[in-house]
Amino acid sequence: MSRTAVVLFSGGQDSTTCLAAALKQYDAVYTVGVDYGQRHRVELECRERIRARIESILGTHSLKDDLLLDLKAFGQLSDCALTKPEAIEMNEKTHLPTTFVPGRNLIFITYAAAYAWKLGAEAIFTGVGQADYSGYPDCRENTMKALDLGMETSLRIERPLMNLSKAETWKLAETIGGDALVSFIRDETHTCYEGDHTHFHDWGYGCGKCPACVLREKGWEEYVANLKGR
Ligand code: ZN
Repeated sequence: MSRTAVVLFSGGQDSTTCLAAALKQYDAVYTVGVDYGQRHRVELECRERIRARIESILGTHSLKDDLLLDLKAFGQLSDCALTKPEAIEMNEKTHLPTTFVPGRNLIFITYAAAYAWKLGAEAIFTGVGQADYSGYPDCRENTMKALDLGMETSLRIERPLMNLSKAETWKLAETIGGDALVSFIRDETHTCYEGDHTHFHDWGYGCGKCPACVLREKGWEEYVANLKGR
């Protein structure tokens, strides 16, 4: 019997690493993305390029259809720097970055679960991690456990990055697909909050200044210094 998985796939480093993991483990892999009215379309464009090439890097033949959910209504709910042109910084009241959209991951996973159920998939992959940014409440292990409880028991939520640092996430990509996959993820994924896809650095494209770029640079440097090839 063929094994099917659904991957929440944004076109960033984390979800692309998850996609690679799923393609290696499952016979049929479907991707789900969310258009929630992002300020920058570049991540959505990266998704298409990554989907077109990742299997040639991995030597797999498992990739199936992509579903892009239109959740623009979500933008109406949130004063969020990802959908509105304000600066990305820490909110002094909530101690969360202004990029935080309350419950975003829960909404995405709930939609993915409905899709997975329809496809007869046995697992959903999500790139959420506790090391992510400034502790988004809906990226925490306990939130994911609550989700597990709310699902059919046959559907697993796979979180391969849950306890990994950004450096360890690069290392995981190396383990899955060697240097070829690491280079592919570095060159093709997008993380920058400012939507900068013109400036190329050792660690990939980005403005180099926003919180996402700073985190990505730090993770890459730690990976190269301590983990690469070991
Ligand atoms: Zn940036």
